[in-house]
This record gives sequence, C-alpha cells and structure tokens, in this order.
Amino acid sequence: MSSTRQSQTPSACIVPRGGDHCDFCSTPPVFKVYRCANFVAKGRPVFAKGVAAGSWAACRKCAELVDQGKWNDLTQRAVRKFVKRHRVARDEVAGVRAQLAEISRSFALNKIGTAHPAAKNVQDVQGI
Ligand SMILES: [Zn+2]
Repeated sequence: MSSTRQSQTPSACIVPRGGDHCDFCSTPPVFKVYRCANFVAKGRPVFAKGVAAGSWAACRKCAELVDQGKWNDLTQRAVRKFVKRHRVARDEVAGVRAQLAEISRSFALNKIGTAHPAAKNVQDVQGI
C-alpha cells in the first residue's frame, strides 16, 4: 500500500514552542531569552495569534551569534541542527535554509531591546 507521502513541512517545527531548548536550533538548555515582537513566518504568526510579543529562547551558542549579529552563522547552525534532527533529504535542504534564513532575518528585525552591553559606545561615536 502506498500512501501519498505528505511532504513533512519542517516549518511547523521552527517556531518557538516552549520547553528547555533553543528556538533556533533546538539544543537544550536555554541560555538566554529574548523579547521579540510577533511576526509572520510562512503565513503564520510565530507566537499565538493576537499576541504582540513573545519570548524567544536561545542556547548559549545561538545567543552569542544573536548578540554579535551573525545572522548568517546563526542560520547555518540552525540548518545544520535541523537537517540532522529531521533527516531532511538533500534536495530539501535549500528550502529549509531559506525558511530559517527568513526566520533569522525576521527575528533580527523584531527583536525588542538588546542584550548588547556595548550600547554606550554608540553614543560616544555619535558625539552628542
Ligand atoms: Zn541554539
């Protein structure tokens, strides 16, 4: 019997879903939690519908990448972990990468506040 193989859309697993693991790469434990405005990924809000903002957990490594603004590295890491975890077929990896890149980008745009302690230097540079 052949059942139609529903392509397992990995997108559903990417968004924050609580628990003690990273929302980017699913690695436990959570090291840092970011405030993030709700945004839409793949046509669905990442947090509950109608919620303005939510918490986005990150493991130590991902938090480092977020704080350094290394979004490409963050995406690469998330893709690597995701592919390993979900046994994504080779020809689907590009699609997963595109999704995760979009998520990283949206997260970067919607992140509320900053955990970066170097903010003082910005004022110095602007010479107020
Ligand atoms: Zn992580």
